[in-house]
This record gives sequence, structure tokens and C-alpha cells, in this order.
Amino acid sequence: MHIETDPKLDFKDVLIRPKRSTLSSRADVDVTRSFRFVHTGREWTGFPLIASNMDTVGTFSVARAFAPFGAMVALHKHYPAERLIDFLRSEIADNVFYSIGTTTEDLDKLALVRAQVPVGKICIDVANGYSEQFLQVVQRVRAENPDSVIMAGAIVTGEMAEALILAGADIVKVGIGSGSVCTTRDLTGVGYPQLSAVIECADAAHGLRGHVCSDGGCTVPGDVAKAFGGGADFVMLGGMLAGHDECEGRVRYEIRNGESVPVGLEFYGMSSDTAMNKYHGGVADYRAAEGKTVEVPYRGPVKATLQHIMGGLRSSMTYIGATRLKEVPKRTTFVLVGAQRNTVFDR
Ligand code: 5GP
Repeated sequence: MHIETDPKLDFKDVLIRPKRSTLSSRADVDVTRSFRFVHTGREWTGFPLIASNMDTVGTFSVARAFAPFGAMVALHKHYPAERLIDFLRSEIADNVFYSIGTTTEDLDKLALVRAQVPVGKICIDVANGYSEQFLQVVQRVRAENPDSVIMAGAIVTGEMAEALILAGADIVKVGIGSGSVCTTRDLTGVGYPQLSAVIECADAAHGLRGHVCSDGGCTVPGDVAKAFGGGADFVMLGGMLAGHDECEGRVRYEIRNGESVPVGLEFYGMSSDTAMNKYHGGVADYRAAEGKTVEVPYRGPVKATLQHIMGGLRSSMTYIGATRLKEVPKRTTFVLVGAQRNTVFDR
């Protein structure tokens, strides 16, 4: 047994210290980034926020709403191949990831879709990115899709970030147990504080010219700013994007002033009973659900929430004097709050 004694931080454990700057308006800051990916040499420019590949938020409708803002969606993997082929023919295909797990069925479906239409970005997503089999799938998908940008995870440590990039991933997806409807930490005791995971994985990935996506644990726009401050190149959101018109899932209505109005939407983890009953006919005997089902308040169009997040980030950048999103980690000094109050933590 071994105990790590370095401080490990979640978003709630830090605040970003303001810094002097010459910036006068948040309109002067640019929240877009341009990337060249390590394995494909492909370039992408946009707002590097990604809706999670959960079947409630990783939808075609969210992708259409996000496209004008340059934001992205990891499409959930339960769309039929024909609908994915149609969608990937649209002009917003560059802003979506095609998601797969590691099953033969997933890999066969990808091959089928790829035979019809280019698949520019692939997200290989498993709950536990530490298995040898996962690395082998990443290697195989890289070999079969040399021109696709590949994001793979989830992992939380630098050595695994390096292993995934060397195996063919352009972007590593960082976060285990941090999701809003995830119960992994309660059920298994496994996890890693999200901000530290991002800081450590970004350090490792950037050393190999790879990129990092922080996945899970953001509950307010300030957390998105902290993730970018910690070195995340992309930030993936589930819960913050739930409850909108463009989401899928059961809607609860109430009669108000004689009219039926939406008040709540179902939101659940992709390993919850709800998802497993929907897609696998129940939870297999040998495993337990690692996600829960909640109802989130109805919040109208997702565009307003996206603009709120972008506004928060612009304001955050103004406070630290960062003109471009790329400068944010360099301009970020985290101040520890709570147990280690008043300690300053420079990136
Ligand atoms: P959120 O933004 O809601 O905090 O986190 C979203 C992330 O939670 C997803 O992108 C995914 O990585 C993770 N997640 C989604 N469903 C489940 C689940 O059922 N179990 C676990 N352990 N994680 C989940």
C-alpha cells in the first residue's frame, strides 16, 4: 500500500487570482483556439467546448445549436449508422466526434459508416482507460483511421496520458469519477480530483505535442475557466448542458395557467440503470450501475447556456489579462481555498 501526500485538487479547492492587465473590455478577448493534432496534422479552429457523448446531451440538435459558436459535440453512440452517415455529410461534421466503445459491434459500425462518409473525429470512450485491451483498440483505430483526429479516455494520470498518445490518440480524455451523475467514487472508491488530473495529464500530453480534454466535474462557468487554467485544451460537459430543448430524454410537464409547460428533464449516467435498461435490457449480473438518474430543471434553448459559459470565460480572461484562450494557463495562478487556504499554486 502506498499513500500519495501531494495535494490533489478539485475545481472547488481553488480560485483564480486576478492579475494586472491592459485589457479594458471582455469584448477584446478571443475564446477560440486553433489546434494542429499530433498524429494527423489536421487543423481545427473553434471554441473548444464539447458536449459529452451521453445520449441526453450528445445529440444532433445540440450540435446544430453549437455550430454557429464553433463549439463541439461528441455524438452519443446509440444513433443508427444511417442517421450518423447523413449527419456526417452535413457542413458541421467538423465540429463533431463520432463516439465508440471497444466492442466488436462498435468497431464494425465505425467501419460501415467510414465506408460511406469521412469520419474526421473519433472519440474512443471507456469508463476505465487503464486496460491493455483499450490501448490495443486505440492502436487499431489509429491504424485503420490515419486521417481521423482521435480522442481517447478516460484516464487521470500522466503516464497513461503518454501511453495513449504514443498509441495513437491526439487528445486524451481526462476524468474518472468526477461526473455529476457518476457514482464510481461511491461504488468503487476509485477516482482522482479533477483539476489535479488535468494539470498532471496536460503536462504529460503537451510534452508529446498531444492535447487534453477535461471531462466531468464542471458545475458552473468558473469551473470551465479553471479547467482551461489548469491546462485543458478542451472541456467536456454533461450536466451543465442537460435540461435544454435540444436534449433527449423524458420531459416532465406541469399545468400552469391552464397550459402544459416543461418543468424538468431526465438526465442519467451512461452506466446508470436507466441507460443499461434502455440499451442492454438491464444491468448484467456481474456488474453494478456506476451512474445515477436525476431530474434537472427545464432550461430552454442551449444557446443561452453556451453564451453564459462563453461570457463567464471571457470575463475570467479579462481578470487575468489573457487576450487569447491559449494564454490562459500561463496567466493562471490558483489560490488554494479550504484546508490549504492562502497557499498559492502557480501553473
Ligand atoms: P458532468 O459534466 O455531468 O459532470 O460529467 C460528464 C461526464 O460524466 C461524461 O462525459 C462521462 O465521462 C461521465 N459519465 C457519464 N455517465 C456516467 C456514468 O454513468 N458513470 C460514470 N462513472 N461516469 C459517467
